Amino acid sequence: MEELCHWIDGKEVKGTSGRYADVYNPATGEIQARLPLATPAELDAAIASAERAQVIWAATNPQRRARVMMKFGQLINDNMDMLAEVVSREHGKTLPDARGDVQRGLEVIEVCMGTPAMLKGEYTDSAGPGIDLYSMRQPLGVVAGITPFNFPAMIPLWKMGPALAAGNAMILKPSERTPSTAIELAKLAKAAGVPDGVLQVVNGDKEVVDAILDNPVIQAVGFVGSTPIAQYIYGRAATNGKRAQCFGGAKNHMLIMPDADLDKAADALIGAGYGAAGERCMAISVAVPVGQKTADALIERLVPRIEKLKVGPYTAGDDVDFGPVITRAAHDRINSLIASGVEQGANLVVDGRNLKIQGYENGFFCGPSLFDNVTRDMDIYKEEIFGPVLSTVRADTYEDALNLVIDNNYGNGTSIFTADGDTARDFASRVNVGMVGINFPIPVPLSYYTFGGWKKSAFGDLNQYGPDAFRFYTKTKTVTARWFSGIKEGASLNFKAMD
Ligand code: NAD
Repeated sequence: MEELCHWIDGKEVKGTSGRYADVYNPATGEIQARLPLATPAELDAAIASAERAQVIWAATNPQRRARVMMKFGQLINDNMDMLAEVVSREHGKTLPDARGDVQRGLEVIEVCMGTPAMLKGEYTDSAGPGIDLYSMRQPLGVVAGITPFNFPAMIPLWKMGPALAAGNAMILKPSERTPSTAIELAKLAKAAGVPDGVLQVVNGDKEVVDAILDNPVIQAVGFVGSTPIAQYIYGRAATNGKRAQCFGGAKNHMLIMPDADLDKAADALIGAGYGAAGERCMAISVAVPVGQKTADALIERLVPRIEKLKVGPYTAGDDVDFGPVITRAAHDRINSLIASGVEQGANLVVDGRNLKIQGYENGFFCGPSLFDNVTRDMDIYKEEIFGPVLSTVRADTYEDALNLVIDNNYGNGTSIFTADGDTARDFASRVNVGMVGINFPIPVPLSYYTFGGWKKSAFGDLNQYGPDAFRFYTKTKTVTARWFSGIKEGASLNFKAMD
């Protein structure tokens, strides 16, 4: 049984707690490694050396840190296949999808190559007589990243890239279900020139997360995961005076208007609903056709496409469309939610339960499922299923469809398929969701924009990556400077205007 490690001070370090988490191969259901779960004492030691390393790293000029990012990006690119394999081995997603996971993280590192421009302050010459005013952006110190299982490369890179480039040190706590990619990334970061101690990967569960949230040295917490945990982490971090941005779950709707190209909409729903077994926070899990004719025509197009989908282990080659879900518990929860949908009166058009794959009978595979006639009160509508299950909620009018999205608790992503620019504009303007696609199913913004949901999909301020990330990982200091020469007056006791 392989025993995984932490990454502390530039090397792999065995755990000392005696507590372990099992890391599964989701395709076979077997335990493939055990992961040490750190104690608060192990965490404290990692933070203490990160604190020392950060001071030197912060004093390295931004252009040099940007060059480290350049090298890091190059190494990620050079090792793309290795990283994708590590992602797939623990997550179960297909290799092309795993390469996408690495690629969307790499693109954030590419933006970090422009760190000096991102960190520029502002300057006002002669803001008052002989007075100059300027601001600078300074790193926070030691910050933490706590990441989910579903993007083992992308999300750790979204966290570590801007945090390190801005001059911070980071304690990264990856998901205990898909931990190995973070260690491989840390090795590449070291090879690129990130000094020892600046990036520490500390594995663990709630015990170490709570210790991170309570540690006074940690200045900020960037979290991504499910909504209840995001809300908990936000509350505890904020109570302890830390900056926190905590991104949560989703229930993403796609509106399909009567004038949409229905073949394109159906293709988009297949990719966005079933890709990565639906385990994406930007997956489309609710299709909202407008009008009964649109709904019937859409279902007619979806069914044959779903029936063609091939589910299997990533090792079976490129014709596999998606792999298993992450755990036995996730598999069973998805199946019981499907059962609840049937009990509560939805029409299960395609039933993905009971899929068995020869040679992988114990794997956590769920076949694709499609529901029609789902209503707002059903559990399959209210809960994030996070599996290959697409629900169809029929709407009579555009306003009904829009209000469905507006009323939903989550607000991560949404999309509209239409041929009418006016409807698309209206939707983008009125919908209360953070990321909107127009004839585009998974509107994950490129890395020079920012990523973040609204409502229960995000707690805290500022988005992930792009300019927002540099704001989140730096503090603004504003300096009002006057050089005394020839000042004749005495002290002024008034609150001075710049006149
Ligand atoms: P999760 O909330 O179970 O775990 C996320 C992290 O929190 C992990 O590192 C885990 O160890 C830690 N954690 C879990 N329970 C904890 C507890 N009780 N106390 C303290 N820490 C705890 O999420 P997951 O299952 O790994 O990931 C899937 C979820 O993440 C989905 O809800 C998905 O929508 C969401 N997600 C959101 C985004 C986004 O940007 N909004 C991106 C990806 C995934």
